[in-house]
Amino acid sequence: MKVRRVRGTRDILPDRIRQWQYIEETAREVLENFGFQEIRTPLFEKTPLFSRSIGEATDIVVKEMYTFRDKKGRSLTLRPEGTAPIVRAYLENRLPTPAKLYYLGPFYRYERPQAGRYREFYQIGAETIGSDSPASDAEIISLTMTLLKKLGLKDLVLQLNGAGCKRCQPDYKKVLKDYFREKLNSLCADCKRRYRKNPLRILDCKSKRCQRYLAQAPAISDYLCDECKKGLDEVKDYLDTLKIGYTINPRLVRGLDYYTRTAFEIISKGLGAQNAIAAGGRYDDLVEDLGGPSTPAVGVALGTDRLILALEREGVRPPIAEGIDIYLASLGERANRRGFTLVQRLREKDLKVEGVLSSKSLKSQLRRANRLGARYVLILGEEELTKRKAILKEMATGKQEEMPLKRIVEKMSEKVRKRSEGL
Ligand SMILES: [Zn+2]
Ligand SMILES: [Zn+2]
Repeated sequence: MKVRRVRGTRDILPDRIRQWQYIEETAREVLENFGFQEIRTPLFEKTPLFSRSIGEATDIVVKEMYTFRDKKGRSLTLRPEGTAPIVRAYLENRLPTPAKLYYLGPFYRYERPQAGRYREFYQIGAETIGSDSPASDAEIISLTMTLLKKLGLKDLVLQLNGAGCKRCQPDYKKVLKDYFREKLNSLCADCKRRYRKNPLRILDCKSKRCQRYLAQAPAISDYLCDECKKGLDEVKDYLDTLKIGYTINPRLVRGLDYYTRTAFEIISKGLGAQNAIAAGGRYDDLVEDLGGPSTPAVGVALGTDRLILALEREGVRPPIAEGIDIYLASLGERANRRGFTLVQRLREKDLKVEGVLSSKSLKSQLRRANRLGARYVLILGEEELTKRKAILKEMATGKQEEMPLKRIVEKMSEKVRKRSEGL
């Protein structure tokens, strides 16, 4: 029986991994420059952490969570997003404020797989917990734009909106309900449920039936309270200071219930329907909702899979990974043995070395050395062993010379070092 991978998951193979490493390395660098520290939380949590925070009416909670019972019958869920676990960890570990935390890793949602969308997907995210300054919002946005630009993306649009707060959201929900009341019968089944539980979520509906009503629907921007308006203006001021351009999208509401005040999305223009590569905003009530003291917070998440699509679309290639320093091609049993210890000793000098594992022909070993980007090949056969020498071949020039086995480790590490210093 051949077992295959689960639908919506994938293997990230060595020939593609460079792209992932490039994104993750760049992200860590930018995030740490901005003063964020990494946090790692479990891949699964108790189910109520998500159902309570993301919202009972959201698609995520209603249909997309991987929820299961463990052997003691407890309901657990594979994390569908990063913010709630971080808020939980922040509270449970009593982290000092403001806590500026970042994470990268896999998340799980039972969605229909399509280009750039998987059931196991990867995100990079950052959260600032414990600051209500609009500077924090601007910092999160600026950090995201800096990262995207550093990765080499150009075709970006930042969309901004006010998502309302505890004071003004209820009024807006009422207005929305009034608007949708007479259309209720023509809405999809999901939206009928959303209408009862949280009419805001109708605005996320992807079905054609409902979308025709969305463009005319009242926009939250017309119902923001004075404090929300003022907060949004202050964020805009900070963005202006940093010369970060944005467009106001009065209909932008994020698909999770916990967002308040600032909401934003960054769109990569070439990507089509699934074009948001980063999204975030404020969630000033979430810490309190999860049992903590009232604590304002703001965050962002970037979808690594979409980032990769966007990089490909814009023709950005990650810098090529460095090849290995030395490939040791050995021929014959005795040379294999001698070669095996030699490889080990070279590695102890911090050189990248590969070889000896196959008893294949010299030709096929040289092919493998090429594939691995080896700078030097050492050839060790029966004849060389007798002469106590190895043949050294420089791959770039094809130049060959003999190298005495005595002191070969010192000589090779000196050669590699000089070459990498450009001497
Ligand atoms: Zn408000
Ligand atoms: Zn709908």
